[in-house]
Amino acid sequence: MPTYAPAAMVPVRASGLDLWDQNGKHYLDFTSGIAVASLGHCNPALVETLTQQANTLWHLGNGYTNEPVLRLALALTEATFADRAFFCNSGAEANEAALKLARKHAHTKFGAHKSRVVSCLNSFHGRTLFTVSVGGQAKYTEGFEPLPPSIDHIPYNDIEAARAAIGDDVCAVIVEPVQGEGGVMPGNPEYLRVLRELCDKTGAVLIFDEVQSGMGRTGALFAYQGYGVTPDILTAAKALGNGYPIGAMLTTNELAQTLSVGTHGTTYGGNPLAASIALKVLETINQPAFLARVKEASVKLIAKLETLVKDYPNVFSAVRGSGLLLGVVVAEAFKGRSKDIQRAAEAQGLMVLIAGTDVLRLAPALIVSDAQIEEADRLLRLALNELTKPA
Ligand SMILES: *Cc1c(COP(=O)(O)O)cnc(C)c1O
Repeated sequence: MPTYAPAAMVPVRASGLDLWDQNGKHYLDFTSGIAVASLGHCNPALVETLTQQANTLWHLGNGYTNEPVLRLALALTEATFADRAFFCNSGAEANEAALKLARKHAHTKFGAHKSRVVSCLNSFHGRTLFTVSVGGQAKYTEGFEPLPPSIDHIPYNDIEAARAAIGDDVCAVIVEPVQGEGGVMPGNPEYLRVLRELCDKTGAVLIFDEVQSGMGRTGALFAYQGYGVTPDILTAAKALGNGYPIGAMLTTNELAQTLSVGTHGTTYGGNPLAASIALKVLETINQPAFLARVKEASVKLIAKLETLVKDYPNVFSAVRGSGLLLGVVVAEAFKGRSKDIQRAAEAQGLMVLIAGTDVLRLAPALIVSDAQIEEADRLLRLALNELTKPA
C-alpha cells in the first residue's frame, strides 16, 4: 500500500548505531527506528535472550500464562507506580486499551454520561480509529469519518484551556509528557501538575502516553518520574521491545478491577518471546548508571546542537526536547523543509528523523558514545554546508 514514502536506500544490516545499505554504504543511525532500538541494533545481550527464548517457548495464547510475562509484569510494576500490566503488541493497542479502560471505569463508577475524552492538539496516540481520533492531528482522520464521538482537543501546555475543558463528564485526559510526533515539545511541569489536579477533582483518569518518552528516553525510566506527576494509566511500547513488537498498559489495582475476564484481550500480547526480550531491555535500562549516562549524553548532544543553531541561523532557530529525544526547529528561511535537511544528512551518511515539516528530530540509541555525538555533528555540518551553498 502506498502508505509510506521510504528513503531510496535500503538498510540490510546494522550493529549498535552503525548501519549499512545494499551498496555497503555506512550510516550513523540517529533515529533508532523512531526511538525503538534504544539499546542499539542487534544488541548482543538481546540477541542472546531472543535466541534462548526462541529455543524454549514462543507463544501460547491467553488460555495460559508464562514465566517471562510474569517476570516482566513484576519488574514493570516494581519500577513504576503501577500494580497491574496488560500486554499487547504496539503503542496504538496500548492506548486503545487505556482509553477503553478509562471509559468502562467511568461508566461503572459514575454512569454513562461520563464518557468524554480530552486530548491535546498535535498529539499522536496511534492509528486505530479510536486512537487516531483521540490524536490531535486532523490530517490523520480526514476521510475516515464517522469518527468516534465525545473527543475534545485542547492546545498543549495551555492551563486555561485545560481548566475550561475538563469537566465532570470527562472520563479520560490523555497526554504525552513530551510530544514526539507533534514536534518534540516537552510538557510544562506546571501544566502536567494541573492536569493531575483537574483529574483528581473530576474523577477523570489521567493517561500518560509514554510510548515514545518512556524506557529511559528522557533520562528517567519513564518521563513522569522526572516530572514528579503520577498518572493513573501509563502506556509504553516502542523501546520496550527494542524492535521486537510489544506494548504495555500499566495501571493501579483499583482501575484494573474494572476489566474482568473476557472484557479485553489480544492473541499475541505478552507472549513469552516478546516478554523475555522486554524484561532484558527493562533490566538494562533501569539502572542508575545507565540513566545517568543518558542525561550526560543529552547534555553533550544539546550543546552541539545549540552551537549548530548559532552557526546556521538561516536553517535552524532553536533546540528543544528532553534527554535523547531532541528537536531542532527549522528557521523561517527553511520553513517546511525538514525533509530536505533529513535527505541531505542521509547523503552524508547520517540518519535523522523529522517531526512534521518544521522540526528535525534526533533520537539516537541511548547507548550513543561521545565519539558518535561528535561524528553526528560533523556529518550534519557537511549536510548543512551542501544545503546552504550558493547555487
Ligand atoms: C509511536 C507512538 C504511538 C503509536 O505506536 P505504534 O506502535 O505505532 O502503534 C503512540 N503514541 C506515541 C506517543 C507514539 O510516539
